[in-house]
Amino acid sequence: MTTYMQDKSHELAPYATKAEETRGRLIPESPSETRTEFQRDRDRIIHSGGFRKLRNKTQVFIESEGDYYRTRLTHTLEVAQISCAVARALSLNTDLTEAIALAHDLGHTCFGHAGEGALSELMADFGGFAHNEQSFRVLTQLEHHYIEFDGLNLTWETLEGIVKHNGPLLPEKPGESVPPTIAEFNVRYDLDLGHFPGAEAQIAAVADDIAYNTHDIDDGYRAGFFSFSDLCELPLFGPIIIDIKRHHPHAPQDRIMHAAVRQVIGTMITDLIDTTKATISRLAPKSANEVRRAKEPMVCFSFAMQQNIRTLRDFLRKRMYSHSKVNRVCAKSERIVKEMFVYLMERPSCLPNEWFAHVRGREAEEEYKARIIADYIAGMTDRFAVLEHRRLFSTEMMA
Ligand code: MG
Repeated sequence: MTTYMQDKSHELAPYATKAEETRGRLIPESPSETRTEFQRDRDRIIHSGGFRKLRNKTQVFIESEGDYYRTRLTHTLEVAQISCAVARALSLNTDLTEAIALAHDLGHTCFGHAGEGALSELMADFGGFAHNEQSFRVLTQLEHHYIEFDGLNLTWETLEGIVKHNGPLLPEKPGESVPPTIAEFNVRYDLDLGHFPGAEAQIAAVADDIAYNTHDIDDGYRAGFFSFSDLCELPLFGPIIIDIKRHHPHAPQDRIMHAAVRQVIGTMITDLIDTTKATISRLAPKSANEVRRAKEPMVCFSFAMQQNIRTLRDFLRKRMYSHSKVNRVCAKSERIVKEMFVYLMERPSCLPNEWFAHVRGREAEEEYKARIIADYIAGMTDRFAVLEHRRLFSTEMMA
């Protein structure tokens, strides 16, 4: 008889981040009677306006190109699923890793990396633009759903996970500086920028890599950017596909592809869990703060897996991200973003009223004005950006 696992919340490891030990929120709030503080964070993120807009934002393909391609929302959900699976296996806090995963891409602009690239070029003299910082701006300033504060007033641990998505921010490396929004916030609420984030945040960051490298291969194959035999040459995918074909010689390619994606995700997760367990026994952290103060990240892949992922990424860069079809859409996207930005910098009074209200009287302050316009454009979904560009530049008066 099959014995199923009982659905009970698991015991947390000593190095897990405990919700009852949170460092709290910038603006203190009384605790919920039914949810932990990290569950509350997760729920606030799911109910935010920024989260709903993820469904109409690009991952690689423009949202209108096909119903089966990933969007920023489905990517986010895949990252959350992988994060929770890993956190559960390592007895870490699944609510915290889920909250961080669900929020990690809230700052992505319209048109994916093409939109971000265009905005970072335009903002180079005005404090720069990066999607990580923008996610933090959404969470701490740009959501206006609460009466008492701007942003979502999330816990210290969730915010820490967002700002340290790529590791510690201090000491600043040559050519890098702490983004202005994070630096300003850090003065009011110290995010411990010189140390690693907790293990739950480290998981969300690696889960992001697992999700996009595997789903981009899947989407790229579906779009015809590479063939089945190309995939057989790749590490991870190649051996798995060959093995599936040996066991199921008559299975249709589409089903083999689904099976391969599942197995590659599983292989990556197993490698991550095994390597992290080995690091945990070596570093023997006794608390979440010891994870933060370690000299190296606690959550990581084996060396061999890192090499394999690098090869996958190079393949995707060559065959998909720089494919002429993708380049054409990116070029259009950049043009849309750049033209709107330049136009609105010259004519801020053409911003919607609620946005112009922030600029009125401060039109001469270029850096300030640029930041508001960047926030406005970054918050647009792909389809809104196309429509807004048309509204701004069409000379058809009756449209
Ligand atoms: Mg992501």
